[in-house]
Amino acid sequence: MTWFNREITELEGRALHPETLMMGFGYFPGLSEGAVKCPIFQTSTFVFRSAQEGKGFFELAYGLRQPAPAETPGLIYSRLNNPNLEILEGRLAVWDQAERALAFSSGMAAISTCLFACCRPGDVVVHSTPVYGGSDYLLERILPQFGIHTVGFQAGRGNGPLREAIDRAGGLGRIAALYVETPANPTNGLVDLEACARAADGLLAKQGSRPLVVVDNTFLGPLWQKPLKHGCDVAVYSLTKYVGGHSDVVAGACVGSHKALEPVHLMRTILGTMTDPHTAWLLMRSLETLELRFTRSVDNARRVAEFLRDHPAVESVQYLGFLDPASEEGQLYARQCIAPGATFSFCVRGGEAEAFRVLDALQLVKLAVSLGGTESLASHPAAMTHSDIEAERRAEIGITENMIRISIGIEHPDDLIADFRQALATLASP
Ligand SMILES: *Cc1c(COP(=O)(O)O)cnc(C)c1O
Repeated sequence: MTWFNREITELEGRALHPETLMMGFGYFPGLSEGAVKCPIFQTSTFVFRSAQEGKGFFELAYGLRQPAPAETPGLIYSRLNNPNLEILEGRLAVWDQAERALAFSSGMAAISTCLFACCRPGDVVVHSTPVYGGSDYLLERILPQFGIHTVGFQAGRGNGPLREAIDRAGGLGRIAALYVETPANPTNGLVDLEACARAADGLLAKQGSRPLVVVDNTFLGPLWQKPLKHGCDVAVYSLTKYVGGHSDVVAGACVGSHKALEPVHLMRTILGTMTDPHTAWLLMRSLETLELRFTRSVDNARRVAEFLRDHPAVESVQYLGFLDPASEEGQLYARQCIAPGATFSFCVRGGEAEAFRVLDALQLVKLAVSLGGTESLASHPAAMTHSDIEAERRAEIGITENMIRISIGIEHPDDLIADFRQALATLASP
């Protein structure tokens, strides 16, 4: 019974796949009464065997000395570490083939802790637009209160806007981070991750420090886009979405190298933005089916996108799978993305009234913001998630009044198509 107290990560000389590792990686039944599943360690604090052991644990936790060979950090207190948190983090790192992952109480906790860890007053963050509403508020309204400047560039317009933004930012201060969300929500505009990594390398020579390249990988990750493989430093996630996958938890993560994440880890310990044992346990359960769920969602989304594209009441569909492979954007997609994901937008013929009529007529697809759950959701970006952006800037970014965003779940695709068909039929009648 080698699995009882030993980790199985390869067989016949071949590394096990992430799908397989999700069932047991990092968990030893022998340490928990033989329980097949990892129990919930619902405890705030941990007993030391001796005062000397407690001293040693703190020395490592506070970085007062380097660990001895094979010495691992001991359990101290659940804001610092907890078995559920540690096992979850080990499994999250597997998908991105990263050295390390950190789990947070929300996607916004992950993003804000990461940016506060790498920015100091006078620094600049160069970021893509549009970004998630909460990230936009952090960048535009919160960071400036701490003397941190931000300069935005538009996603989906090639590498020119990135270069211009870096030039502009260089005049304001040290560029501490390049923060990008790709594909952008809800327009699906792409940012070239390798170009961002190259720009960061260039800044090392120019300003003497390399900015951290941080990618919000919530929409396609961790299955269909791997930012670390393209030279980026940190992938951030709202685990609330596809990873959690059942619309029943709020959580986040940062994934990357030990070096990139150590300051973020320290900041998390002090801000207390880690996730709790019960949420970590739910996320481990979700990770076991991540590949099954996300693959089915992607297949369903393709079916729905094709149906919408051919419907006379639909003006356009912003779906990555429809990019012209010969176009610049299509080539970037092929280099950077493995599948088009399952969240996209479409525009009906008409304006807000027509979009609302379709949303109100949907019966199976629920009218709610968020995405990545087993159930399909629809929302109106201009009136909901992106309503705090001035109308002019919204139009510039391409968020129009006739746009509907959908997150496709794992229902039977025929039922989803039937629902869209009957909802769109309301547009034909006066
Ligand atoms: C939802 C979301 C976030 C924020 O995550 P929370 O878990 O709600 O804090 C960040 N980025 C993207 C792309 C999101 O969709």
